[in-house]
Amino acid sequence: MPDTPKSYGLKSITTSAQPRELITPTPRLKNAWTAQIITLFPEAFPGTLGESLTGKALHDGLWTYETIPLRDFGDGRHRNVDDTPAGGGAGMVLRADVVGRAIEAAQTSLPIIYLSPRGTPFTQAMAQTWASGPGITLLCGRFEGVDQRVLDHYDIQEVSLGDFVLTGGEIAAQAMIDATVRLLPGVLGNAESTAEESHSNGLLEHPQYTRPAKWMGHEIPEVLTSGNHAKVTEWRRQMSEKLTAKIRPDLWAKYLKNK
Ligand code: SAH
Repeated sequence: MPDTPKSYGLKSITTSAQPRELITPTPRLKNAWTAQIITLFPEAFPGTLGESLTGKALHDGLWTYETIPLRDFGDGRHRNVDDTPAGGGAGMVLRADVVGRAIEAAQTSLPIIYLSPRGTPFTQAMAQTWASGPGITLLCGRFEGVDQRVLDHYDIQEVSLGDFVLTGGEIAAQAMIDATVRLLPGVLGNAESTAEESHSNGLLEHPQYTRPAKWMGHEIPEVLTSGNHAKVTEWRRQMSEKLTAKIRPDLWAKYLKNK
């Protein structure tokens, strides 16, 4: 079968004649936390995950990722992946058979999540749970989403990045992988930085300051330059509580209830 360039907007995508050869059957690093990503846009990865701390951790083998290009499992000469919604209406739906074949090519040992605005909202607690496991498979939707039968058949959990609609699951997948990977041992320089930050203890983080000591006439709160560690800790706790109560009354109520 010849490689047929297919046009998507301004970009041109070349389909592959031997799709399965593109997929590594096992992750490149056996013991590293692994993200498998089923996507129409494999070139979107690692994206920002290749930068800074997550990028260094990727390079150092603390985690790894593998893309499963949905197009490779498409139907026919044009490797079609989508079709019009049953019952009519706008947009296109990712076909059950195509998505099913991609899922079958993924490692079954990892839990599978469909990125979806309908899903359970993603939280720090979820990132912690995922970080404590071997990895995760993320199914990125496009267009109007995926055929419901795939989600039902594989009993796929739906997770949302928030109450808004993106054009695809890739940005949501990157956000969730980022939040998870930074919790893996060795990824952040200072292990304490995850214990103290927003959402790890049910509170938002206190304000942070650094040099210069005076900027545009504004000074750093005196307590932070006092050298009194007990006072600094107490000030930070108070600020954390004050900010949470003001900005996120929902989190504050939960915090008080759990205390
Ligand atoms: N018709 C769907 C939206 C489709 S948006 C609906 O109304 O529910 C296209 C794709 O983008 C989805 O399949 C999903 O994978 C992704 N997506 C959109 N918003 C998202 C969000 N808030 N969180 C996670 N993924 C999202």
